[in-house]
Amino acid sequence: MQGDFEAHARVLDRLGADYLFVRTPQEAAQADAMILPGGESTTMLKFLQDEGLEAPLRSLAERGGAFLATCAGTILLAREVRSPSQASLGLADLVVTRNGYGRQIASGVRAIPSKLKPEPLEAVFIRAPIIEATGPAVEILATEAGHPVLVRQGKLLLATFHPELTGDTTVHDYFLKLAAQPASSSPEAPNAHGNACGNAYGNAHGKAENEAQLSSPGPKPEGSAFS
Ligand code: GLN
Repeated sequence: MQGDFEAHARVLDRLGADYLFVRTPQEAAQADAMILPGGESTTMLKFLQDEGLEAPLRSLAERGGAFLATCAGTILLAREVRSPSQASLGLADLVVTRNGYGRQIASGVRAIPSKLKPEPLEAVFIRAPIIEATGPAVEILATEAGHPVLVRQGKLLLATFHPELTGDTTVHDYFLKLAAQPASSSPEAPNAHGNACGNAYGNAHGKAENEAQLSSPGPKPEGSAFS
């Protein structure tokens, strides 16, 4: 079993949002928004590939669906993945290094300043990737130790930490507001009502450990399909 989808579901329950667990392309097609949880990104990538979920996820992004990606989920969406190099969906204009903080400081809870609220965010890092580079369409919402740890590209919200593992619902609340925005509207300052969105919640669970071969993300076009 891979992916900490139940922890995300508990936060959505607290916020009163509807969701479904996505395991099949048919379920993914019902989704208006998607959470890609943490876990082991190589295993999750294989699961996406084996279950035929890559195309529905791309299609959701193309029709303006919001994504919340946490930790391994961020690795899955990044344009380029290093250490080791790994295929990815390439939807977010990010370069990430897996397990980038090394063993000693790989995991821990930090209070980090962010643009989402005046108080610090509570952030749990577990063998987190480092965001090494961001494209021009990416807004940095929080940094830690000199690297972005929470970013937004249009309706993609990506964290290298685990907001679902704390009592702090700020990131999920922001995601629900983002998801409730019309696809064509400006992504600035989401203000719609959180419960209005039909949330899907993508889990990824599988056992295969093989390096997956999703299509190469290739060069990232300027800007973003989501802004
Ligand atoms: N280290 C994991 C990976 O590279 C991600 C860890 C996480 O999601 N907490 O896939």
